This record gives sequence, C-alpha cells and structure tokens, in this order.
Amino acid sequence: MEPLKTEGEELTAEEITANLAHLKENIDKACAKAGRDPKEITICAVSKLKPVEDIRAAMDAGQMLFGENYVQEIVQKYETLGTPPEWHMIGHLQRNKVKYIIDKVTLIHSVDSLSLAAQIEKEAAKHDLIMPVLLEVNIAGEESKWGFTKSETLEAAKEIGAMPHVKVAGLMTSAPYTEDAETNRVHFRNLKALYDKLADAHLPGVEPTILSMGMTGDYVVAVEEGSTMVRVGTGIFGARNYAK
Ligand SMILES: *Cc1c(COP(=O)(O)O)cnc(C)c1O
Repeated sequence: MEPLKTEGEELTAEEITANLAHLKENIDKACAKAGRDPKEITICAVSKLKPVEDIRAAMDAGQMLFGENYVQEIVQKYETLGTPPEWHMIGHLQRNKVKYIIDKVTLIHSVDSLSLAAQIEKEAAKHDLIMPVLLEVNIAGEESKWGFTKSETLEAAKEIGAMPHVKVAGLMTSAPYTEDAETNRVHFRNLKALYDKLADAHLPGVEPTILSMGMTGDYVVAVEEGSTMVRVGTGIFGARNYAK
C-alpha cells in the first residue's frame, strides 16, 4: 500500500494530487483483494477546515466530489466555487440550518433523527426537489455518537422513505476512532449486513445504492467489507487545525 501523506497541515497541490493517486491505487488493491470492481467506490474528499485552494488543487487532479461538516463553511465554499464540484453534507446537521444547504448539496450523509428528516422534507418541498439522504447508523453503539441504532434503522427508513421529498439512498457510519483499522472490520461488516437487509425490504422511497463508510484510518478495511463511498479528509489534504 502506498502511504498517504497525512503529516503537516498545509500540503502543496502536488502532494494533494499524489495523495489522491495513492488513495485510488489503495482502493484498487483493496478491491482486487475483495473481488470487487473499483468502479463501485466513490471518493468523497472531506475538505472541512481546508481552504478553497486545496479544493481547486484536488479538482485539477480530477476530484469532483467534496464532503463538508459545517453549514457555514459549505455556504462560503459554494459561493466561491459554485458547482461543479458536487457538495455533500457529512456532519451533524441542526434542523434550523437545513434551509441554508438544501439547494447546494446533492446528498446529506448524516440524517440521524426523524425530526431532521421532517425538516429536510419541508425545505425540499419548498424548493420542489427530492433530496437523497443516508441514514447515519451508530453501528458500534457508542454513547458519544449521533445516529440511529441498528434496531431503529429499518423503521426509520420506512418513515423517512414515505416523505415525498426525501429519498433514502443508503446508510452511513463513522466507525470508532482506532489506531488499528482491523478492529473496525466487524462494524463495517455489520453495517453492510444492515444495508443488505434494508435493500431486501423493498420499502417505498428507499433505494439503497450508497454505503458510506471508511475514513483515512480505515478506508481499506471498509472497502474490503463493501463500502461504496469512502470519506477521506486527512489522507488527501493533510492534518486539520481545529483551533484556527
Ligand atoms: C472529518 C470527517 C471525515 C474525514 O476524516 P479523516 O480521518 O480526516 O479522513 C469523514 N467523515 C466524517 C463524518 C467526518 O466528520
């Protein structure tokens, strides 16, 4: 595996380009190992707390999908760069902020309550659009994490799928922070099993095509276990400075 450059906060355009190339190579290798087609996996480049110059560098290298965590940051970057690229909301979303992003993002990864989904329904209806969302699942049952529990997920999908302006496009999880990605394999496997169950349920308004799992520390294992979308930030853009 080619290591991704994660040290240092300000990577050059060349380093970002090299990281993207290595990330793709590593995904290809994980796919080869798991007998999967690399075309099944999309990279969502997580650009939170990174400047638009870094996003431009990634775009020059062909990366056209970015994930952001903070509403204000999406709005600012959207105003600067517009579309393309495509923008995904991946972070915890407060109901009162849905209105700022509803017409800017093409997917919300982080739907973690029925009340948030109801708010998305309301705002999407105003804009006469159907918003694809992923249900965030707290697959490891961590106390500190947002998301539906494993046992709540199917019922939540049923209720959200019934909302006319929201489409359930799959599931997302943030696995526990770990130094050893292997310890997350079981969680990825469990989420894939839940995803297959969701697909088999054939619920109205629920068309699972996206399984969003795997970050810088564990994307290889996530791909081996069936991820279709990895959310990689540090491994593309370098370390983030949360204090800025
Ligand atoms: C920040 C973040 C990522 C990216 O994390 P890295 O470890 O930097 O790759 C992925 N998903 C979510 C929800 C995040 O908040």
